[in-house]
Amino acid sequence: MKKKKVALITGITGQDGSYLAEFLLKKGYLVHGIKRKSSQFNTQLIENIYEDPSINNRKFFLHYGDMTDGLTITKIIKKVRPSEIYNLAAQSHVAVSFQNPEYISNVNSFGTLRILESIRLLGLENHSKFYQASTSEMFGDDKKKSLNEKSTFHPKSPYGISKLYSYWLTKVYRESYNIFAVNGILFNHESERRGETFITRKITKGLSEIVCGKRKCLYVGNLNSKRDWGHAEDYVKMQWLMLQQKNPKDYVIATGKQLSVKNFINKCSNYLGIKLNWHGKGLKEYGKIAKIKNENSFLKKGDVIIKVDKRYFRPNDVENLLGDPKKAVKELNWKPKISIDALIKRMINNDLKNIEIKKNV
Ligand code: NAP
Ligand code: GDP
Repeated sequence: MKKKKVALITGITGQDGSYLAEFLLKKGYLVHGIKRKSSQFNTQLIENIYEDPSINNRKFFLHYGDMTDGLTITKIIKKVRPSEIYNLAAQSHVAVSFQNPEYISNVNSFGTLRILESIRLLGLENHSKFYQASTSEMFGDDKKKSLNEKSTFHPKSPYGISKLYSYWLTKVYRESYNIFAVNGILFNHESERRGETFITRKITKGLSEIVCGKRKCLYVGNLNSKRDWGHAEDYVKMQWLMLQQKNPKDYVIATGKQLSVKNFINKCSNYLGIKLNWHGKGLKEYGKIAKIKNENSFLKKGDVIIKVDKRYFRPNDVENLLGDPKKAVKELNWKPKISIDALIKRMINNDLKNIEIKKNV
């Protein structure tokens, strides 16, 4: 009988971790995940898998651990002996990284070191393949061109730096110890499972609340920032594919298209039947309803529903990110299935559904 593949996912409770776990279970893997102890439930995104009787404790296993606790990480790897390790755990919020730089480095940088050293310590160099969740934030911005595997790095946040450390570490361990270790340099990817403080989810949730009369106005930061946004479900497949290649290589994963925060808001508003007009400049800029399909008691033409608030600006912002995924397109047959419009539709429908569910509870 063919032996089942065993995957270990750090960050299993997050957006990508939950999608990747579902993807690998469908492929027949035994999936182990590391979750942190928290005072409230932090397993909402994997509850469906955990509760599924065809999966639960026969194919899916959770271990308590923290990326700052090397001993436990080593113990888990020793027990699980994973054939594939996906290091997705991170303090992943750029703005927060300016406030907690030491902790971010401990988790995002030394967490990676703890895993790679465990692989060596346990003699698993030829057994465990390693995927590192690298990020476009390592590039900083380059106003002129789209970014690929050869572009130079110029991180602009403690988060970007912490990830750059792990990027190099992954390369160094690959070249020095022959570990199958790769970096997926992923551009922003979102979904209905995206954390609520990231801008796309903040917008889809905030606008959904506004049309349902749960909120009057949404406050945001830099409207001019541009991102290359894809859907997480498309991106986790690439994480897996990178570990199935003959040789370990790093890849940029992106859609090759970008949109500003303001245009993301416009698209979301349009989907909800609202046409916004923008007025003012800089910190005084605001979005006002110019036309609305279904005027109701909560919302009418002339209402100001978006305002800029300086609290959401960063000390240093990456304003322009556009990926060039040619290498992945050619070598991994990369083609995202979910367009930006489909992403918005899924996110808003999910946020509207959540509001409806809460109303009925
Ligand atoms: P996410 O939703 O924020 O998930 C992060 C995960 O890491 C959560 O499961 C979180 O646990 C866990 N974690 C945080 N600190 C930890 C610690 N000290 N010990 C153990 N686990 C810890 O992030 P994501 O969007 O899924 O992204 C996955 C990875 O890809 C991250 O490394 C991120 O930096 C990277 N990345 C993301 C993007 C993107 O656009 N989404 C782009 C490029 C790279 P809790 O649930 O307990 O908080
Ligand atoms: P990031 O690309 O990983 O930093 O993902 P985010 O979703 O946090 O931010 C994307 C861009 O949106 C950044 O350039 C932010 O400065 C910008 N932005 C504008 N307003 C906000 C806001 O209210 N919250 C967040 N998180 N970002 C905002």
